[in-house]
Amino acid sequence: INILAIESSCDETSAAVISDGKILNNIIATQSVHENYGGVVPELASRAHQQHLIPVVHEAIATSGITKEELSAVAFTKGPGLMGSLLVGVSFAKSFAYALDVPLIDVNHMQAHILAHFIDDPKPTFPFICLTVSGGHTQLVLVKDHLDMEVIGETLDDAVGEAFDKTAKLLGLPYPGGPLMDKYAKLGNPNAFQFPISDMPGLSYSFSGIKTAVLYFLRDQLKSNPNFIDENLHDLCSSVQYTLIKMLVQKLKKAVSLHKIRQVAIAGGVSANSGLRAELEQLSKKHGWKVFIPKFEYCTDNAAMIAMAAHYKYLKGEFCDLDVVPEARMKI
Ligand code: ATP
Ligand code: MG
Ligand code: FE
Repeated sequence: INILAIESSCDETSAAVISDGKILNNIIATQSVHENYGGVVPELASRAHQQHLIPVVHEAIATSGITKEELSAVAFTKGPGLMGSLLVGVSFAKSFAYALDVPLIDVNHMQAHILAHFIDDPKPTFPFICLTVSGGHTQLVLVKDHLDMEVIGETLDDAVGEAFDKTAKLLGLPYPGGPLMDKYAKLGNPNAFQFPISDMPGLSYSFSGIKTAVLYFLRDQLKSNPNFIDENLHDLCSSVQYTLIKMLVQKLKKAVSLHKIRQVAIAGGVSANSGLRAELEQLSKKHGWKVFIPKFEYCTDNAAMIAMAAHYKYLKGEFCDLDVVPEARMKI
């Protein structure tokens, strides 16, 4: 079984080929046009996907050693994501599958972030709990099978990736601020400044408060010292990151004890964060959890994870029709 998979939900255009469950490549074109805007500009993202998609698909097929005539199916991200961005990928996938006369497979992007754990060994066994942390989502997911997942907790407002990016923006860092925050956090003191830790009921998260707390804190400090940010950048990054990780871990621990499942994975863009990765290793040592941390290239958006999800859907014969439409707010 050879499947070509396409990811275009946000600002990464990506294509990958999977053969009998083995990922052959993972071509990613990252859009740099958004850097100057402090966030992804949807219209620019759609246009960039339009530009990048054909070259990216071409490269994925050319480097796979498989000809397009040997493809068994074409898969794409159906949602969630930006409607215009999704449309570019969906439209291409439909026409390509139609031209090759092979089935079409629609993939849920958030399921795929989790299924990235099945690309390489060691693989988690079922059931496990996955903390999915990305630019648009923060979810605690009970994973019962490859395609059977239940959201047991999520954010009531902002996603944690958004909190990283927005606080980084307040510190004058370019978009996406998360990776830079991570880099500077390593050089600072996590206890230099205190920010409030939100505690929502049950397994719910809230990340909108920290943005406001940082905004007011900086405003007050800048009044007496206009160079406050420059002089304290590393400590600020370290303290904000520490607070965000603390909030993530608080509910993760609660989910583990509630469901009595001690196999724990993290997924999504923010799972690339070195502080969160280190914290998970600590929890593994301290509580005997079996933890799964994805390779860096499979944390942020990529088509390999879409291909992995498509592989499991192919095995179950779960295909979609040519009149399928994207779903910007698709649920797991
Ligand atoms: P979603 O998956 O919810 O639709 P998305 O696809 O935009 O959203 P991803 O590509 O999975 O999200 O992740 C991007 C997010 O990950 C951004 O918010 C980015 O700042 C964050 N991120 C990436 N690397 C790091 C890091 N090392 N530390 C913190 N955040 C990071
Ligand atoms: Mg992105
Ligand atoms: Fe994503």
